[in-house]
Amino acid sequence: MLSETKKKEPAALAKLLANEVRNFIDELVIPNEQQLSRKGRRASRMISELTDQARSAGLWGLFYPYEYGGKIDSLEDYLVVAEQEGRTVFSHEIFGSHTALDARMLQKFGNETIYTKFLRPMASGNALPCYAMTEPEHSGSVPGLIRASACLSNGNWHINGRKWFVSNANNATFVTVLVRTTDDEVDIRKTLSMIIVPVESQGFKIERQISVMDSSLKQSEISFNEVQVPESNLLGVCGDGINMMNHRLGIGRLLRSMHWVGLAQRCLDMMGARIHSPRGSTARLQDKQLVRQHIAKAYHAIASAREMIRVAARGVDTQCSSNIEINIAKMAASQALCAASDSAVQIFGAEGVSELTPLSNIIRIARTTRILDGTDESLISSVGRQLIDFYKHQGVYHFN
Ligand SMILES: Cc1cc2nc3c(=O)[nH]c(=O)nc-3n(C[C@H](O)[C@H](O)[C@H](O)COP(=O)(O)OP(=O)(O)OC[C@H]3O[C@@H](n4cnc5c(N)ncnc54)[C@H](O)[C@@H]3O)c2cc1C
Repeated sequence: MLSETKKKEPAALAKLLANEVRNFIDELVIPNEQQLSRKGRRASRMISELTDQARSAGLWGLFYPYEYGGKIDSLEDYLVVAEQEGRTVFSHEIFGSHTALDARMLQKFGNETIYTKFLRPMASGNALPCYAMTEPEHSGSVPGLIRASACLSNGNWHINGRKWFVSNANNATFVTVLVRTTDDEVDIRKTLSMIIVPVESQGFKIERQISVMDSSLKQSEISFNEVQVPESNLLGVCGDGINMMNHRLGIGRLLRSMHWVGLAQRCLDMMGARIHSPRGSTARLQDKQLVRQHIAKAYHAIASAREMIRVAARGVDTQCSSNIEINIAKMAASQALCAASDSAVQIFGAEGVSELTPLSNIIRIARTTRILDGTDESLISSVGRQLIDFYKHQGVYHFN
């Protein structure tokens, strides 16, 4: 169903935090971006220092559950904060935003043992998660093809299989793995489960690192060879993996989209700065119709995506979330970032494709957004099918 909830102002606290995050990024992160993008030991040390500063300033883990230090519980309210975090590609770790989704999954579907062993250490910065769903042998768009498996014996899960493109596995202390826990004959909605595996478990291996265009998080191929973990490491109910996966994907797509529109806004700001720079003024960029078109189209894409994210996030908050709204918002955010980064690169000329600005990195990230967390084609196909079904049952389409 398309949700029909009312538009509301972001909470005052969220606005305040958004300002603080913006100032933090402007003063402490953006001036250091060139150094951070060189990677290496110095960059890692700098990230750790910035993370400590964000924690001291009360800006770390803002979307964590309240009980674990979070300050914002509404996904819609979080939009104004997340888009500020998203303005730099280095913010995931500094503000703990890339682990908030795992924190919420563990809180919702975990048990006391999971809270103690994984969630609390994560909230205090002593554990890092990653999530393993996609497999090398099969299309990631079809969860029914998942082959990694787990069976319960003598109080332990025995896990076998292989996953790839697992973001951040090289730094993680534990992985949530989506596995098959019953045989093929059973309905797919009862076949998959999520289990938590500490990376030090015997039989767990990082097979190789895979470089992708987006270098902000490293990807790995990992294997499970007779890995054993206690029965209590199961998230939620055995066989409920598809439900949990959909829950995770829904919130995850919106969280990412919020960061992407933030990054798109950064591109728009950079275009504005370039146009009004001495160089842009000499070339009279502000008078050129084609330059105006770049700005107008990027602004349009960002403003539209923000509204779609807001509506979808409100649906999640009010527990009437719609896959249609979430998936449309994800595609709109991805398109906004692709359009804004492409225009910005163009307006910056040779500098835009060089390492002299962050744009060449941003445009690489933008391209991955059309595949990550659901390819354009699979989302379009799913949304189109649901919309056609919707009309069949309702006889009319609703917009808020
Ligand atoms: C930067 C990055 C980070 C990632 N992080 C993680 C992670 O942390 N954990 C994890 O498990 N996975 C991760 N992934 C994997 C990601 O979730 C998958 O790449 C994605 O789900 C698509 O699966 P696939 O790559 O197997 O593509 P496939 O499913 O094989 O699709 C490939 C292409 O086939 C076509 N296609 C597929 N379905 C349809 C359709 N219905 N209609 C028409 N055409 C179609 C499209 O052209 C599509 O792009 C990451 C990927 C990237 C790029």
